[in-house]
Amino acid sequence: MRAYNFCAGPAALPTAVLEKAQAELLDWRGKGLSIMEMSHRSKDYVAVAEKAEADLRKLMNIPENYKVLFLQGGASLQFSAIPLNLLGKNPKADYIHTGIWSEKATKEAQRYGDINIIEAGTKIDGKLAITEQSQWNLSNDAAYVHYADNETIGGIQFANIPETDKPLVSDFSSSILSAPLDVSKFGLIYAGAQKNIGPAGLTLVIVRDDLLDQAKPEIPSLLKYGSQAKNDSMVNTPATYAWYLSGLVFEWLLENGGVDAMHKTNLEKSKLLYGYIDSSDFYNNPIAVQNRSIMNVPFTLADEALDKLFLQEAEENHLLNLAGHRSVGGMRASIYNAVPLEGVQALVNFMDDFAKRHG
Ligand SMILES: *Cc1c(COP(=O)(O)O)cnc(C)c1O
Repeated sequence: MRAYNFCAGPAALPTAVLEKAQAELLDWRGKGLSIMEMSHRSKDYVAVAEKAEADLRKLMNIPENYKVLFLQGGASLQFSAIPLNLLGKNPKADYIHTGIWSEKATKEAQRYGDINIIEAGTKIDGKLAITEQSQWNLSNDAAYVHYADNETIGGIQFANIPETDKPLVSDFSSSILSAPLDVSKFGLIYAGAQKNIGPAGLTLVIVRDDLLDQAKPEIPSLLKYGSQAKNDSMVNTPATYAWYLSGLVFEWLLENGGVDAMHKTNLEKSKLLYGYIDSSDFYNNPIAVQNRSIMNVPFTLADEALDKLFLQEAEENHLLNLAGHRSVGGMRASIYNAVPLEGVQALVNFMDDFAKRHG
């Protein structure tokens, strides 16, 4: 049987998608070979790649003047690729700090540019929150403003898109496709695939055309958005299987009502879990209500000594990967698009039973 998987990444994939991939694994659509064994430049593979892009454009309503790139190296390589691509004409950038991922992005950018760090983390009534934009010292001459929409480890998410007349660059690794998004507000959106898209090995970059020619001359050619855009993300061999499988996920999303329907379910799921945590004296979530992530829900038990038992019993109940990130401890339930409402209900039932027996 398939358990409910709450892993932060690589994360749960829709069962229907895995079944489809399984059905065509050995003999892809009667061609006598697996998609993994095909040239990335073959007519068949190029059609698969193009359909994935077209479906993503439909799902996210991506305007014509944006390129969609299917790259490798994870979101972490984008921490370097972004400053190398965007700081060629102006070395200044603003980085908003709200957690571990935005901090990692900042550290890489500091190797290539003059980075203004905006500390946006605060505490309101003992809960972690993101400060109002009016309190940020954004520069008036930055080449771009960077932030991480959803801090996967901390479980803290922006309630609104920051307002700026500079290109807005955002890490959507754990929140892409979870809610409707106005892409036209951004210069660049990037996301590692292994949270809310597909398997590890693929990284999406959605970049506005006018940002394709701002690169530093020393940039490695594989990292250069302009070259990747010109070559349809095939400067070298792309992650063909991850691209194909992500395409199956996009088809699954379109068949199931698209991003609007996912968002509705995601709100129900997060409301159910946060609602239960708030109603309990045994569990606690450390984030202020307005900045709670709808994808990653960290929580602690009243007694840390019970953590190990909680994880062990959860696993026995087919609820997997609930340990918090190694840097913070506690628990974390990642409830991406592929985790159904029934999975969250099963988790809440287990948590309630555990609290009654051990609280
Ligand atoms: C997981 C994650 C990353 C790192 O992704 P990799 O693909 O492992 O490099 C970066 N940012 C956020 C917000 C993440 O959730």
